[in-house]
Amino acid sequence: MIRIRKPATPPAILAQEGKGPAATEELLRQYEADPAGFRGGTRSFTFDKKIYGAPEVKTALQRAQHDKCCFCECKISNHPGDVEHFRPKRGVKQRARNQKMGKPGYYWLAYDWSNLYLACEDCNRRHKGNLFPLENAHERAKFHGEDLSREKPLFIDPGKEDPETFLSFRREYAFPLETKGKETIDALGLNTRARLVEDRRESYERLALIYILSQDSDAPESAPAQKLLARSQEDSGEYAAMVRAALRCAFADPAD
Ligand SMILES: [Zn+2]
Repeated sequence: MIRIRKPATPPAILAQEGKGPAATEELLRQYEADPAGFRGGTRSFTFDKKIYGAPEVKTALQRAQHDKCCFCECKISNHPGDVEHFRPKRGVKQRARNQKMGKPGYYWLAYDWSNLYLACEDCNRRHKGNLFPLENAHERAKFHGEDLSREKPLFIDPGKEDPETFLSFRREYAFPLETKGKETIDALGLNTRARLVEDRRESYERLALIYILSQDSDAPESAPAQKLLARSQEDSGEYAAMVRAALRCAFADPAD
């Protein structure tokens, strides 16, 4: 997981004159007409995927995220990707995935550019889902009139903070530097998804060999190997956070 810098200006469909703000207004109007119904779960919102999931939104996110999942950093081109709502729009769970869902969720952020990322299906649907843990669940904003800044999320927001201050890697395994890092690693299953860990392992082992080549300054392969390593740790590199951690310790973390 690395820092993501989305353009400050949202794609036109979510901007002031676009469809997003009008659709948001409509959601607020519906809520205000029947708050108890939406809170009690007898009424629910309908969201327009054609707006938040519009091709122009997806393309802007793909570009800002270098075609990678915002959470696990796999290349989206190799795995189908979803536009993910960081604060879940339909209902929210504080912890366990089987816990009862709090209603109505962050409906007012459904078309909010700052709340949208591109995530792989595995992260979005099978892991994060409606999870959005807070340090103190009582501080959760429950409708659009409440103050989001009171919330202290236990989930790293890669668009607002640098994930690498909360988590790092030892070889192909993520490890937490802080509580938020631990919550995020566990919720996303960053160390328990066999395919993901295997993918990172292959990448690590390949780069470890390239690192050895890069160290022999007499070898003709040294310069291209150094170039490849430099490119692999850029934001556009798959699993860049892992590669950076490996380079920081010169690929010297012992195998398990
Ligand atoms: Zn992912």
